[in-house]
Amino acid sequence: MTLIVEKFGGTSVGSVERINAVADHLMRKHADGEKLVVVVSAMSGETNRLIGLASDITDSPSPREMDVLLSTGEQVTIALLSMALQKRGNDARSYTGGQVSIKTDNVHSRARILNIDSVKIQDDLDKGRIVVVAGFQGVDESGNITTLGRGGSDTTAVAVAAALRADECRIYTDVDGIYTTDPRVVSGARRLDSITAEEMLELASLGAKVLQTRSVEFAGKYKVPLRVLSSFEEGPGTLITYEEEGSSMEAPLISGIAFQRDEAKLTIRGIPDHPGVAHQVLGPISETHVNVDVIIQNASEKGLTDLTFTVPRGDYDQCMDVLKGLVTKLGAQDVKGDDKIAKVSVVGVGMRSHSGVANTMFKTLSDNDINIQMISTSEIKVSVIIQEDQLELAVNALHDAFELDVK
Ligand code: ADP
Ligand code: ASP
Ligand code: MG
Repeated sequence: MTLIVEKFGGTSVGSVERINAVADHLMRKHADGEKLVVVVSAMSGETNRLIGLASDITDSPSPREMDVLLSTGEQVTIALLSMALQKRGNDARSYTGGQVSIKTDNVHSRARILNIDSVKIQDDLDKGRIVVVAGFQGVDESGNITTLGRGGSDTTAVAVAAALRADECRIYTDVDGIYTTDPRVVSGARRLDSITAEEMLELASLGAKVLQTRSVEFAGKYKVPLRVLSSFEEGPGTLITYEEEGSSMEAPLISGIAFQRDEAKLTIRGIPDHPGVAHQVLGPISETHVNVDVIIQNASEKGLTDLTFTVPRGDYDQCMDVLKGLVTKLGAQDVKGDDKIAKVSVVGVGMRSHSGVANTMFKTLSDNDINIQMISTSEIKVSVIIQEDQLELAVNALHDAFELDVK
């Protein structure tokens, strides 16, 4: 008998009709002989609604209480889905993260899963039950509720699949697979039949939210057979593959384009250049636990240098305050910033064996009058920082230039 973990995202369980449709689908699969563990997200919009309620009470909710609050969204859907399954004749059981011992570290709002006890789940499966597990949540060593970061139900699903050694983990969402870029931004985006875990990891971490980055890391580590599918229509979806490095010689040059809105850029100018400057500027930033992304230090001129870096937009004000505090201390000229920037990245393992990708990217952006503010490259990606209001133009132009719509 095959054991499958199926995950349904917010839109897929966004109404009573959708929950009933998911229950019908699960009953069909169960009748086909699949043992099923189901992981669900909160109903679409619910997590944002809860965040809104907290911010109506206080500007600085305690991380512990925030996780207690946000985990309620998923608790609603596990109960409703289990009721729908019971109504259809399956003795389904719902479990919160704590009830099936999804143990995490204690970093509230972005906890990492350490361990899952699968005994209870196995026992239910052996009794023919469909097991419904709340995504996005766990408990730390002391029993405090934790959450795994936005989009974290994907990670719950993959982690449960790894713990149970499931035959497949299926992520059902509101698009019918992984595309060359977000199909909501480029109408000609093409669904991929498969993508390597390495490329998907890069796309996810560069902003493609179709899978949470951590879920792809988990899948790669435990080689979990993973597929992304639509919960609205039948289809093959996209399979994540685990090819050995080097076996992807035939791979297309570029597999996809990812982008990240809501970024901000800060520059501290005219700092006397000597060993330790980067540490003196970025050390205090990292102490605030802000994630710094792209960093550029200019060649020094007359002993002075500039340092520019990007951070998530929500952290802009805090970082600006830190930098302003450093101006006098470091003898720098001034600080400036821009909180209306975005990052666009082209990703592909084919880049390893071909040159010219960066050049095509730069020429395409130049042909479209898009100014590149910062550049960052790795073996399989090139990222640029541009003005946010040119993001859609850039993604569409690059999608054309790399001929991603043609197979
Ligand atoms: P869920 O609620 O099911 O977890 P998400 O909204 O988190 O769904 O992720 C699905 C969304 O990801 C799609 O609606 C799509 O807009 C977006 N997306 C971004 N990049 C891609 C991509 N390369 N392929 C498919 N979808 C993408
Ligand atoms: N409900 C959480 C969120 O909106 C987790 C998830 O949907 O995966 O981010
Ligand atoms: Mg998601």
